[in-house]
Amino acid sequence: MTETLSAYPPEESWDHVESLDPAAWPTKVRRAHRLVPTTCFNCEANCGLLAWVDKDTGKITKFEGNPVHPASRGRNCAKGPATINQVEDPERILHPMKRVGDRGEGLWEQISWDQALDEIGDRIGTAFREDRHDEIMYHVGRMGDDSYMERVLHSWGIDGHNSHTNICSSGARVGYASWMGFDRPSADFANAEVIFLISSHLEAGHYFNPHAQRIIEGQKNGATVICVDPRLSNTAAKADHWMSPWPGTEAFMLLAIARLLLVDDTWDADFFERWVNWETFLTEARPDLEPNFANVRQALIDQYAEYTPAEAARVCGLDEDQILEVAKVIGGGLGKFASHTWRASSAGNEGGWMVARCLQFLNVLTGSVGTEGGTNANGWNKFIPVTPIHPEPQARWNEMQWPIEYPLSHHELSILLPHFLKAGRGRIDTYFTRVYNPLWTNPDGFTWMEVLRDPELVGCHVALTPTWNESAWFADYVLPMGIASERHDVSSFETHNGRWIGFRQPVNRRHRELEGETFERTHEANPGEVWEEQEFWIDLSWRIDPDGALGIRQQFESQTDPGTPLSLDEYYSMLFEGSVPGLPEAAAEEGLTPLEYMRRKGSFALPGDQAQVYERGVSGDDLNGAVRDADGVWRRPGTAGSYDSLDEITGHMPFIGDGSPAVDIDGEAKFGFPTPSKKLEFFSETIRDWGWPEYSMPAFIRSQVHWEDLDMTAGERILVPTFRIPTLIHTRSANSQWLNEISHRHPLWLHPGDAEQLGIDENGLVRITTRTGHFVIQSWRTEGIRPGVVAASHHMGRWRLEEDEARSWGAGKASIERDDDGRWRLRREHGAEAYESDDPDTGLIWWTDTGVHQNLTFPVQPDPVSGMHCWLQRVTVGPAEEGDAYGDVVVDTAASHRIFEEWLAKTRPGPGPGNLRRPLWMARPVKPQATAYNYDA
Ligand code: SF4
Repeated sequence: MTETLSAYPPEESWDHVESLDPAAWPTKVRRAHRLVPTTCFNCEANCGLLAWVDKDTGKITKFEGNPVHPASRGRNCAKGPATINQVEDPERILHPMKRVGDRGEGLWEQISWDQALDEIGDRIGTAFREDRHDEIMYHVGRMGDDSYMERVLHSWGIDGHNSHTNICSSGARVGYASWMGFDRPSADFANAEVIFLISSHLEAGHYFNPHAQRIIEGQKNGATVICVDPRLSNTAAKADHWMSPWPGTEAFMLLAIARLLLVDDTWDADFFERWVNWETFLTEARPDLEPNFANVRQALIDQYAEYTPAEAARVCGLDEDQILEVAKVIGGGLGKFASHTWRASSAGNEGGWMVARCLQFLNVLTGSVGTEGGTNANGWNKFIPVTPIHPEPQARWNEMQWPIEYPLSHHELSILLPHFLKAGRGRIDTYFTRVYNPLWTNPDGFTWMEVLRDPELVGCHVALTPTWNESAWFADYVLPMGIASERHDVSSFETHNGRWIGFRQPVNRRHRELEGETFERTHEANPGEVWEEQEFWIDLSWRIDPDGALGIRQQFESQTDPGTPLSLDEYYSMLFEGSVPGLPEAAAEEGLTPLEYMRRKGSFALPGDQAQVYERGVSGDDLNGAVRDADGVWRRPGTAGSYDSLDEITGHMPFIGDGSPAVDIDGEAKFGFPTPSKKLEFFSETIRDWGWPEYSMPAFIRSQVHWEDLDMTAGERILVPTFRIPTLIHTRSANSQWLNEISHRHPLWLHPGDAEQLGIDENGLVRITTRTGHFVIQSWRTEGIRPGVVAASHHMGRWRLEEDEARSWGAGKASIERDDDGRWRLRREHGAEAYESDDPDTGLIWWTDTGVHQNLTFPVQPDPVSGMHCWLQRVTVGPAEEGDAYGDVVVDTAASHRIFEEWLAKTRPGPGPGNLRRPLWMARPVKPQATAYNYDA
């Protein structure tokens, strides 16, 4: 038979694909596979995967891309196909475990799911009956699903959601939300003329693979790529312009470019006049001027008078000509300026949120908001289906996640949790960590360890995780959760100009059901007893409220067969039939139910255009009883909308913009933005009214690592510890053989000039001293980093405490002890080593390096406005000292707590206007009812 090559087997053949077995080569052995779509779970991008299931053995043999997925279009990064390693990992957790020794002692017994559910459910039910709702907390790392957990937490009536976001992106979110209500950009890279990235997007940025392929597409089509990064990242190397300002000065550089656009008159004045709240700017900032648009340009130039190219060159350490040239490029691409910043400087510096606010200023000045080739709002390209059976939001406010000191933080102050516990601000009865490893991922991990060890502070720690990790070691229950091919989730991201949803599904279960088997629960089809969380929450909720007296069980009962637990087939049937526009029709065209359509394809692209949504006209029923106020905003009486006082609210307030459906533009009611003015807010009255008047407009904030404050001659430098290695994930890549074979080192990037000045040999050991301790790492001389800055990638430095337990392909053996001065010492005893297991490949491990756990030495540094942890560190860099060994980490947690108090003192606590804990209009995860915003409630 003649074989033809094709990129992907055609979709109609996925039920039966025959191919030659490469392992049998040179003998030609044909094998038959069923291709089951699911989505990748190894980063937030949610790319499509096709699991190849061998029809003879029922085993998954590989994962490849899903060509019909609208975002990834069949392509994946290395982490997608490496999912097969996680399926086959010999060290994965396959059964529920319960601690039998002391926390952290490493003694466990295997228990049944029934026992785990009974014991945990009883504990939570007791807390609810005793009105201790705030003692139950769910802390998530990788979400996986966009809305299911909100439904669970609302059903439980708790304000118990915690996330990893303030070590990730809460800074940038405040910057974007203060402009447009939406907290993320959605760049249309493929159609742009100018692509501006403050991040290493091509190898590791947000929505990494879907964005990277579109950036390349845009560049091939002629776009100019500008990359801002202190490192010569792979993205910077591909860019037309690499800008390497001093870390922490990016906002200054952006404002200098903004000023040049105004001075050169290369801005979109019409867009600014139509969609920006410039009247407020003139009224508030320039009462000496008539509030006419004709005054705006000069007033803006005056506002940014100090941001000259020469001063920007000095402050940022850039070449003045480069600033001028880049401003010309940007001014030449009006309407087609696609920009993005995520993590990077907005997650590194005090005031990092202003980097996003200043970058959005360039989008606005160039008229590139929601245009083809411009930058849309995430909410207009990401689609979250409304969950069926959705209970009322909680009427509670949990100060442990949403402390009054941070009324404008975009997400929970999760890095402060152990300090709040130590300070006696509360206690936790039951703490779920879910695909989250706070002890290792967060700054100040030894403080987390101290708290997790103390049952007085954390009564019960339940780790929901597919693999062992440093935090799970200090848990009471370790419950195995499914990876990408073992669970259901629906999610969507703003990867390009369009909307879509992706459907993750348990591959073995799907395959075996197509073969005629039936299952009650997914763990019956998964490896071992690995479960999926959606079913876990259903069954746990039944145990919390067995008789329905708490009103919880009813939320998890079947609608078609009341009195029995909801099944996921029923849940997702309701969701796909009722909440995804266009899906029922597309499914009907193929003679399928919406659920079967999603099980066959794994994704769906929603019809419709999302360009310039704010320009849509609103009339008739869509005004929904709203009336036009004096500012031209249409508001519905009795809803929160844009109001900042509870007195005005009689209804509830679940969604941003819910109470104000339109804004008057040139006499027409337009959809607008979900902000108080319904326009883009150059001048934010919210920021002014909530304690930060000096930041009501885009501004530069001097950071905690500002170069002029460093004593370079004494060895001080700026440490960038945040960049990613594209082949690694925070925790789970340690359980992937291929990814560790590719990446298992993270030396310190060090400029040769700095190395000479600091006396550090080629590849020599370096001691990096922070304010709470030090770590020892190996150096790498490179001219690919700005002098004065050193950098070591995130994602390395995994460790385990027992030789034969919690092993992986990327964790070294370490010991932890406390020295006579009360400092914690982590010493790496050895790195990766070959060992015997059911997988013969573990005997072939050839690499030894597992990196250094640098995050342990970083104190918490929450930005006083956004709450974002400021990752960059002011450090002293020098050669290793006598007795130092590679991987050593020493930390004084008493100093950590003092620094926590120091940063807390920088805040300007609420309540704000109307005695509120937080502006009502701003988005919030698992948003409570309006009454919970009352500080005295
Ligand atoms: S970018 Fe890579 S890790 Fe992320 S979802 Fe796509 S394939 Fe998976």
